[in-house]
Amino acid sequence: MLKQPIPTKIYLSEEEMPKAWYNLRADMEKLPPLLNPKTRKPCTQEELEAIFSKGCVAQELNDTDRYISIPDDIRDFYTMYRPSPLVRAYWLEKALGTPAEIYYKSEGNNTSGSHKLNSAVAQAYYAKKEGITSLTTETGAGQWGTALSMACAFYNIDLTVYMVKVSSEQKPFRREVMRTYGANVIPSPSETTNIGREILKKHPGTGGSLGCAISEAVEVATSTPNCRYGLGSVLNHVLLHQSVIGLEAKIALEKYGVKPDIIIGCAGGGSNLGGLIAPFMGEKLRGEQDYRFIAVEPKSCPSLTRGKYVYDFGDTGRITPLMKMYTLGHDFIPSANHSGGLRYHGMNPVISALYDQGHMEATSVEQTRVFEAATLFAKTEGILPAPESSHAIRVAIDEALKCKESGEKKVILFGLTGTGYFDLTAYKNFNDKTMVDYVPTDEEIEQSLAKIQD
Ligand SMILES: *Cc1c(COP(=O)(O)O)cnc(C)c1O
Repeated sequence: MLKQPIPTKIYLSEEEMPKAWYNLRADMEKLPPLLNPKTRKPCTQEELEAIFSKGCVAQELNDTDRYISIPDDIRDFYTMYRPSPLVRAYWLEKALGTPAEIYYKSEGNNTSGSHKLNSAVAQAYYAKKEGITSLTTETGAGQWGTALSMACAFYNIDLTVYMVKVSSEQKPFRREVMRTYGANVIPSPSETTNIGREILKKHPGTGGSLGCAISEAVEVATSTPNCRYGLGSVLNHVLLHQSVIGLEAKIALEKYGVKPDIIIGCAGGGSNLGGLIAPFMGEKLRGEQDYRFIAVEPKSCPSLTRGKYVYDFGDTGRITPLMKMYTLGHDFIPSANHSGGLRYHGMNPVISALYDQGHMEATSVEQTRVFEAATLFAKTEGILPAPESSHAIRVAIDEALKCKESGEKKVILFGLTGTGYFDLTAYKNFNDKTMVDYVPTDEEIEQSLAKIQD
């Protein structure tokens, strides 16, 4: 056995699991409201309730209650796979020869393979409670569709998943997991919606995008009785549910008197990052503690580092509410040879505001450097990480190497959001050395940003 001052895995008991989610917005300046895409006036509660469950809408609009209790039913579901372990990366530290301490919060230990189940179960729970009989959603890489399939199976709710067509072709096994949990999986764009038919007419043979799939799922939800839509990232209620990650990490670290100096998360729509940093950021905003926060995004889809902080749509079809967020434009589709996940054009409004106000940093990394980090992590820590998570691993390693140079003994915490078992095509490209880095040109980004205003 390793004789270490802090155990390799810090487990919490079920009783130590948080009883309430932490709502970071209660400690922030008020955010710009969601806007109705037609009137451009702030969305009313009723308008949002036509799309989402009432429980989720109430949370989406709540920026005053610091804590929102987690219903017992959801806590019970959480105990199937939570609390998740906080791991001290002793072997990675050793391999790097760094004086830094590295910890990661490991969220890939459930069948859906990522942190997304934390919000999926909450969304299915509120739907069930309100008598909603079916949900629709979209999925790109597949993790969100899988998570919501599991949650809907548990609560006996019908689920239709619009899966980005290229992704459903590249990841047939993801689709099978969803179908096993009872979901109806439709490759998007499809002939089942007006928007899908329109897109297919304009772009025959298109492989689809997350933005198209969202449009299809929202169209079905808003035109079917007793049906609502669930989104796996970007929105503030999703961030709220993910705060369980940061709360658990904080409790576990405090048990051993450890305070992180740097907290790092990968950022697609911002939900795991927002959840991980929430309680720490709260302390920073209240002036109680100081931390460095780093969002890591892919160089091929750099919404924070190269996007604009403006109102934009969440989808290509322009039917979702407008959000003030860092965005590359709702028409932005990252290069097809980008296999590292995190492909969404926008960023959660909380994360966008925190970044805009200078409370956190953001950086972007190339996918080959991400997979180099993933490989080192797999060899040293024994876990095959998701490509998305590996963006955070990359920057954690870079920060630990800076400590090696300076001799500083910093404490680094990062979010390991999921497993890489369904991303073996991407690993294959990396191993075959056929993976290339794609960085959009300024003109490409300008063109996409220019379309925001129409
Ligand atoms: C979806 C996903 C992400 C990115 O989503 P966020 O909302 O930015 O957290 C990161 N890692 C994994 C494993 C995912 O499934």
